[in-house]
Amino acid sequence: MTAAMTAQDTKRPAETFDSVNPANGEVIASFPACGQREIGASVDRAASAARWWAGLGWKQRRGYLLAWKSYLARYIGRGAQLLHVETGKPLGDAQLEILLAIVHIDWAAKHAKRVLGPRRVRSGLVAINQSATLEYQPLGVVGVIGPWNYPVFTPVGSIAYALAAGNAVVYKPSEYATATGAWLVESFADIVGEQPVLQLVTGSGDTGAALARSGVDKIAFTGSATTARKVMAACAENLTPMVAECGGKDALIVDTDANLDAAADAAVWGALSNAGQTCVGVERVYVVESVYHTFLERVIERAAKLRPGEDRDADYGPMTMPTQIDVVERHLADAIARGGRTVLGDMGSVRKPFVEPIILSDVPERSSAITEETFGPTITVTKVHDVAEAVRRANATRYGLAATVFVKNKKRGMAAARTVRSGMTSINSVIAFAAIPELPFGGVGDSGFGRIHGADGLREMSRAKAITRQRFRPPLNLTTFSRSDEQMRKLLRLVTLLHGRRYR
Ligand code: NDP
Repeated sequence: MTAAMTAQDTKRPAETFDSVNPANGEVIASFPACGQREIGASVDRAASAARWWAGLGWKQRRGYLLAWKSYLARYIGRGAQLLHVETGKPLGDAQLEILLAIVHIDWAAKHAKRVLGPRRVRSGLVAINQSATLEYQPLGVVGVIGPWNYPVFTPVGSIAYALAAGNAVVYKPSEYATATGAWLVESFADIVGEQPVLQLVTGSGDTGAALARSGVDKIAFTGSATTARKVMAACAENLTPMVAECGGKDALIVDTDANLDAAADAAVWGALSNAGQTCVGVERVYVVESVYHTFLERVIERAAKLRPGEDRDADYGPMTMPTQIDVVERHLADAIARGGRTVLGDMGSVRKPFVEPIILSDVPERSSAITEETFGPTITVTKVHDVAEAVRRANATRYGLAATVFVKNKKRGMAAARTVRSGMTSINSVIAFAAIPELPFGGVGDSGFGRIHGADGLREMSRAKAITRQRFRPPLNLTTFSRSDEQMRKLLRLVTLLHGRRYR
């Protein structure tokens, strides 16, 4: 039974679905496919839980959230085992994912009051008699729709920040990661048992669509750009605001003075870990020509040692969602047909449900392996004249999620990082921003909009509230019909004095 399916629901939905181990097809658990009726009941319960939760205040919420983080840290083994079995990722990667989520819960809990709490702001000379206060209030109920590739880290990026801001959450995990989603929700319920502040609703895309239409106060969506468009259309019906964390086609750029061993290591990890099923994974590498061959050799050498599998020694697991394998095959075939070379692996590397490492070079920029998100353990490595060309090519995509730059010179690194069209860029390490809770996470273009994590992530889950209190009668009362011409003349003189100075 899920947190959404309590005795308050009149009857069980007719349909159920199974969550399976992608490596061997074994059923892990069955879940109800929640429809509009169940979603509506959950959102109603959440609305009343949200009032209770918001009423607790910063200190108590902080205490609950820190207790939740501590629970997750103590039971990380259980959660990681489930995550490993349900998504196929190695146990160590599953532990790392939960660890990162813990870091974010901790930050959101400890900083919500500072970022969102009431603070005095200057009222300015014209309104000197006013005392102005800015605060960020909770939205109410946030609907979170999550993906299957990082089913703890990714939703927690929305859930923890929404909860810390004082909202209740209704969470719909991907049907491919529902057992992990249930564990996450149950872990919170063990800490906050009084009210259903975090609820689970289970099902496929239809369940997600029903949640988007349910009248929640915001949708935090993570998934593909294609689905984001559908969710946005559904949200439009009720003018429900939305944050969209979508896919990417992230580039790694290698400059002439880069540490090539470190760059090759980062490229291989960024592209192949989690079987390449990482929104901020490395999909394309652009290398300045003088170091291209040495870099490529080092990438091949490292990648050739890696092996997918379900055993403990495997470097990465199976493809979690079966249909993604077709995308990998299509991109590979297209790249080869257009003249791209496989320098490691080939079409035979796809052995369902596993895909061995595939490195491509000389892939034409129009090929789908360069233009579309592949989401598999493959990378393209392309020679460029200089970093400016690398940035130009990196930016020639609809996506703009993250990027990586390897360069020794700090100034050149910062300049390249700034000009890459992406929400996040790491210099001389890969995906490092994900572990820094203070940094906002999100993309541009088809990679989505809005931000999770950090102060921006907290504000994303709140609404700004402006309050101003008159402290004393204004010397010039402007908002009255009894305003005199003399008062207006005085005001105009003041404004000219304050703002009328010539600047050029
Ligand atoms: P999908 O877009 O297929 O699904 C995302 C979620 O939306 C799932 O829970 C899915 O349910 C649900 N959904 C499907 N159809 C609808 C609909 N019509 N209305 C509402 N919800 C719906 O993405 P994936 O799960 O395949 O995740 C992979 C994608 O997510 C990749 O593009 C990846 O790059 C991106 N991603 C982005 C991240 C970021 O932070 N920017 C982080 C992680 C992943 P169900 O699965 O049950 O069909």
